[in-house]
Formats: sequence, C-alpha cells, structure tokens
Amino acid sequence: MLFLSRREGLKDFATRFKPFRRMTERFVAGEDIRTAVAAIRELNARGCTATFDHLNEGVTSPAETEGEVREYKRVLAAIDETGIRSNVSIKLTQFGLAFDPELAYRNARAIVEEAARRGNFVRVDMEDSQVTQVTLDIFRRLRGEFDLNTVGIVLQSYLRRTETDVQAVLSIPARVRLCKGAYNEPPEVAFPDKRDVDENYVRCMKLLLKSGVYHGIATHDENMIRATKEFAEREGVGKEKFEFQMLYGVRRDLQERLAREGYNVRVYVPYGKTWYPYFMRRLAERPANVWFVMKNFFKG
Ligand SMILES: Cc1cc2nc3c(=O)[nH]c(=O)nc-3n(C[C@H](O)[C@H](O)[C@H](O)COP(=O)(O)OP(=O)(O)OC[C@H]3O[C@@H](n4cnc5c(N)ncnc54)[C@H](O)[C@@H]3O)c2cc1C
Repeated sequence: MLFLSRREGLKDFATRFKPFRRMTERFVAGEDIRTAVAAIRELNARGCTATFDHLNEGVTSPAETEGEVREYKRVLAAIDETGIRSNVSIKLTQFGLAFDPELAYRNARAIVEEAARRGNFVRVDMEDSQVTQVTLDIFRRLRGEFDLNTVGIVLQSYLRRTETDVQAVLSIPARVRLCKGAYNEPPEVAFPDKRDVDENYVRCMKLLLKSGVYHGIATHDENMIRATKEFAEREGVGKEKFEFQMLYGVRRDLQERLAREGYNVRVYVPYGKTWYPYFMRRLAERPANVWFVMKNFFKG
C-alpha cells in the first residue's frame, strides 16, 4: 500500500474513478473548505476540536506552493468566520521543501504569521525520514520568531533518533504532537518491530507530559492511551494539560469516549482533491480497511 501510495498512474485512475472516490469519504472530509468546515462543526458538536489538513503532497513548482499558502490563509479566515474550534496542520513539502527549502520556510512563515495575527496555531507535520532534519531546522527558525502557542511540531516514535529529538525540542521549549509514524522507513533509521516503536512511544510520551508544556498524544492505540492516562494520573498531570489526537474516520467511538471522560480530543481533518497518498497510507495501517474498501467497491 505504501508503495502504491507513490504510484502516479494509479493515483490518476483512482482520482477519476467515482466509486473509489466515494470510499474515501470515511477518511477524507470532502474536497473543499466548505465540506471540511461542515465536518468540523459535527466534531465540535461531539465535544472534539480539530485541525485542518489540506491534502496536496504532489506540489512541484513555486507557483503551486503559492496556491497552498493562499489556501491555508483561506482556511484560517474560515475558522474565524465560522467560529469552529480548529487549528491547522501543514506539510513542508506542500510549500516546496523538496526543491527549495528556503521557499518552504518563507511559505510556512507566511502561514504562521497569519495564524499569529488571528490567535490560532500551526502544527508542522512530520514526513519521511529524508526530510526529518530539514523539517526540524525550519521549525526551529519559526519557533524562534513565533511563540509557543503559535507553532508546534510532530515527532514519530518509530524513528531511532526521536527520543533525542524530543529532548532537544523540549529545551526550546515547543509543543509536540507525538505519533508513531506513517512512512515506509529502512531499519537503520526506524525500529522495524512494533514493540520497539510502542516502547519508544511510551518513553517519549512520559518526557512530554512531564515537561509542563501542552502536547498532543496522537494515537488510536488503546495501550498507548491507557499508558498516557495512567502516567498523567500518577504524575498529577491534569486532563487539561494535554490532548489526545486522532484521525478523521478512525475510532470515532474512542474519540467520543475520551471526550466524554473529560479529555481534550482533537481530530485531524484532511480535505482536498489530492487525497490519494493520504488515503493509501490509512489503508496500509490496517488490513481491515482494505476489506472495507473492497466491500464497498463491489456494492457499487
Ligand atoms: C492526529 C494525527 C496526526 C498524525 N500526523 C502524522 C504526521 O505528521 N506524520 C506521520 O508520519 N504520521 C502521522 N500520523 C499517523 C501516525 O503516525 C500513525 O501512522 C497512525 O496514527 C497509526 O498509528 P496508531 O498510533 O494509531 O497505532 P497502530 O498501532 O498503528 O494502531 C493501533 C490501532 O488503531 C486503530 N487504527 C490505526 N490506524 C487505523 C486506520 N488507518 N484505520 C482504522 N483503524 C486504525 C486500529 O484499531 C489499530 O489496531 C498522525 C496520526 C494522528 C492520529
């Protein structure tokens, strides 16, 4: 699935093929801001906050990156206009990281500046390990210019380097979203064994929660969630001091349960026309999702 997520031909086919597009609705909140706002209203009504993600990982020219900046400015304006409770998540490749890191920094800065003006928050997503260092470098520059509650970063527990990165980022300090990691990585850089990824997740979670900074614990794994709740309780870290984060369409029951228990829950809401790589990564995470798609495919 991760291999297929990078196949251009399949992407074109899937994007044009109506039945396939319909099946993405479980994980993708439509193709434009309007539909994403509607999805977020529903989440807010269920006691969850949200974060927007405009899907467009295939940006290849400076002109396209400008389009992304405009889109995110429209999103930040829409949040203010509609009063929904949401912030935004950005991917630096969307802003030109692959061909001009300086351009990616300038574009990301424009979004962070707009968020600062509006009192909102930008989370810089983490992509594959080839861009981990440059993403962290750009984040540090942004964090040097904007405050703790305006820009934050993501770290992935499957990477061997992450515990060190957590410590380095906390010394700034900075707000972190901790996730396991969604890309196909070689064993030299990432733990191949799920048990190691999970152990590292718990180690990093503890460092984050102890820091006193507001972090996002992003996972649907009930073991990780239980470990977080227990640690927070033991250390006297109140429910208002961190948030759980989950993906749109994944474990809705768990999202609602945690919100009912009084935890802050934020849902990552992707929308946009280029949903293909994101959608394929979600299928890759869980074989049952492939059956879900196949079943719907044959139902028409
Ligand atoms: C809010 C948020 C933001 C994220 N941002 C990033 C990022 O910036 N960079 C990055 O690399 N990754 C990101 N991810 C993805 C993350 O790295 C994992 O790939 C993904 O969350 C699955 O890991 P898990 O912690 O849920 O644990 P897993 O061990 O993968 O899954 C635990 C259980 O969760 C459920 N589950 C997990 N995934 C799915 C799914 N797709 N469909 C249905 N059920 C599922 C299943 O019940 C599964 O048994 C993000 C995840 C979240 C929740």
